[in-house]
Amino acid sequence: MAKRTKIKELLINPKIGVETNVKGWVRTKRGNKNVAFIAINDGSTIHNLQAVADLSKVNEDILKLVTTGACISVTGQLVASQGSGQSVELLVSDLEVLGEANPEEYPLQPKKHSLEFLREIAHLRPRTNTFGAVLRVRHAMIFAVHKFFNDKGFFNLHTPIITGSDAEGAGEMFRVTTLDPVNPPKNQDGKADFSQDFFGHETNLTVSGQLEGELGAMALSDIYTFGPTFRAENSNTSRHLAEFWMIEPEMAFYDLDDNMDLAEEFLTYLAQYALDNCIEDLNFLNERALEEEKNMKQEERSELSLIERLKFIVDNDFQRVSYTEAIEILRNSNQNKKKKFKYIIESWGADLQSEHERFLVESHFKKPVILYNYPKNIKAFYMRQNEDGKTVRAMDILFPGIGEIIGGSQREERYDVLKARIHEMDIPEESMWWYLETRKFGTAPHSGFGLGFERLMIFVTGMKNIRDVIPFPRTPGNAEF
Ligand code: ATP
Ligand code: MN
Repeated sequence: MAKRTKIKELLINPKIGVETNVKGWVRTKRGNKNVAFIAINDGSTIHNLQAVADLSKVNEDILKLVTTGACISVTGQLVASQGSGQSVELLVSDLEVLGEANPEEYPLQPKKHSLEFLREIAHLRPRTNTFGAVLRVRHAMIFAVHKFFNDKGFFNLHTPIITGSDAEGAGEMFRVTTLDPVNPPKNQDGKADFSQDFFGHETNLTVSGQLEGELGAMALSDIYTFGPTFRAENSNTSRHLAEFWMIEPEMAFYDLDDNMDLAEEFLTYLAQYALDNCIEDLNFLNERALEEEKNMKQEERSELSLIERLKFIVDNDFQRVSYTEAIEILRNSNQNKKKKFKYIIESWGADLQSEHERFLVESHFKKPVILYNYPKNIKAFYMRQNEDGKTVRAMDILFPGIGEIIGGSQREERYDVLKARIHEMDIPEESMWWYLETRKFGTAPHSGFGLGFERLMIFVTGMKNIRDVIPFPRTPGNAEF
């Protein structure tokens, strides 16, 4: 019996006339009383293989079990296809049903299902063309992230998922505890006594690997993390997950400009990698997005298609604008004057909402924007303070349709300045002693940023909701699969 061949391999290098075995899941079966055409997909590629079963040669009872969703194994000769739509097909000499899928119950039928419905069957949705494509592109992007940094001599550092520091300040945290939830040991003021907890104090799931990443950079020069992060933010948006993956490079001897250069090069590289390595899946996703937009109002449609957007990123520089310049642009905009923003920009120091970010990217500059030098009061304690005493060396990269895709900064490397800022912001110094020590022993200027992997995936796949670019999304009220 022939050994199994993956459909992707067989299409790249078809061995016409050779007996071949293919295993996979049935997408469709059609035909007449003489012959059945079975479309099989094994996930290795967006393309199906057509198997042709001559009814005089295959067992009719077995063929009856070949329904959409069933798993089958087919063996036979590979031949050049007579019909259009495929280059080769397989003439079935042996057909085996490995797993039936009762058509009365199997929820995925060969028709369009809504993305909302597919989220309810996240255990089966990888078997659709759309999610097959998204998951293959997702893999390619993971691989590209590691390749980019490896080629540059960065080291991948695993930072902890359970963290004892609650000072990262990036969002609400999930508690990690083994204390009895009904009857926890209590201390004198009647509160749960976490000194008796598993780690001897309160712990949470990490919201960012940055602080530990900095420790790595102060020894290895250039590191990056790529791990899960958790934020218990109750923001039910199309761009927030409670569990998402983040890439956080951290570089010794980089200033803010070096940091922006690296971030831009990185995003450009990833877009180019997708175009070079995922074009079949991207073509499918491109068509699917165009189809989806047909039902939308003219003003809601994207000006560029998915593939055009990826090429645009590769071919154009990002626009770099200081926060101060951005505030002037926003203040003088018609949107602001006519009070069309929900949050009107009154004066310097205002925090930018996503409506402002989207205005800058989508209406004003019409290209990705890097905003830098933000007021220190709206940014984290660890960012390098500028000489003006008002701003810090922060930078956010804003993408069309997404808003913030990267947030980063040059880090405050001066011990006294950092310590003063920690006090100013009422962060308990004792929980930060190890972080402060890097500034005491061999401190160095350094910078880093965080890229939300699923925000990147929204950009690369053209999917509109972040729940549709991760296999099993975690959002408020949803952790079923
Ligand atoms: P936002 O304002 O969009 O909530 P943030 O300022 O909280 O973002 P950072 O703390 O700077 O974001 O995190 C770095 C990156 O992680 C962001 O640029 C974004 O790409 C991603 N990110 C942040 N929060 C989420 C989330 N809840 N789900 C998915 N990605 C996220
Ligand atoms: Mn946030």
